[in-house]
Amino acid sequence: MKIDIAYSQERQRLMTAIEANELWQNGELNDKHAFTCPGKDCSAPITCENMNKFEIDQKRVPHFVWGHRSVKHSKSCDYDTVINEWRQLQQENPSETYSDKKDQNEVIFDCNNIEDLSTVKHTTVKTNLKSKNNDKGNKSATNNLKDHTRVVRPHYQLLPSLVNLFLDAEKENDLENKRVKVNFDTKSYTYRLNTLFTKISNYDLDNSKSKTKVFYGDANISEDDEKYYIKFEDKFENCDAEVRCTIKKKDIVKVRNANAKLRNFDNYLYTKNPVQVFVLGEPYKFKSKENKKKTIIYINPYKGLFDLVAVKK
Ligand SMILES: [Zn+2]
Repeated sequence: MKIDIAYSQERQRLMTAIEANELWQNGELNDKHAFTCPGKDCSAPITCENMNKFEIDQKRVPHFVWGHRSVKHSKSCDYDTVINEWRQLQQENPSETYSDKKDQNEVIFDCNNIEDLSTVKHTTVKTNLKSKNNDKGNKSATNNLKDHTRVVRPHYQLLPSLVNLFLDAEKENDLENKRVKVNFDTKSYTYRLNTLFTKISNYDLDNSKSKTKVFYGDANISEDDEKYYIKFEDKFENCDAEVRCTIKKKDIVKVRNANAKLRNFDNYLYTKNPVQVFVLGEPYKFKSKENKKKTIIYINPYKGLFDLVAVKK
């Protein structure tokens, strides 16, 4: 059975592998081996494969695997129950037993995390390091896990995580059923993954309501001192205009772990083959300054937020 959730020793709570990867990208998790079985009083080790990779280097979506070939669970481990409950809660209509918990397990994507930066507390990580070398500490944390903390709150803030959810659902043929609530500044909308993600070449800009979505297509990336320029090879349906995205470098420093993300992004510059770029934003038409007859369509990330851009090979 696929290990959907695991207990993070660094964070002392349950999480998905996609969230673990997001926390690593933000510089808030370090050790891909610091996970254990989500079952009761169980310390069977779990590893988060691809946790420590940016999206372009992930050949597979981040996922959990058992740390040893022969897994030894605790006597009271109820792993199957935990995983089944989690799966139930991911369904649109969970059985009655779980329906009261459904809201707590809704997948939320937050586009508005700039303000959070000042309030991020790193104290949790410190406490965890202590309890790591202290068996008693670890045990009591596991005991506390019981019912209420078994609620996993999938709450993502990086577009790479949303792309991973999309790729996972696509692989499992589940794009129709998987939903995510996207929080914007003042509003939130719930989308099915297959309507949230839109291939540029499949979208008729003139016949669709203008909307903020995840647009994606093949692109080439270049830069100068101040900006990154993403030039899509794809064009919108029935529209010959070039599609571009521009990211100001001064906006990048506003995101968590900006330097590491920036260094990583530099690897995708001027690649021989185009890369696949995902942007969460709203397309708008722009008359070229040099040539007034030429129109360019820009899809810049919502609020200029660098975390709302993802790149895949
Ligand atoms: Zn176990």
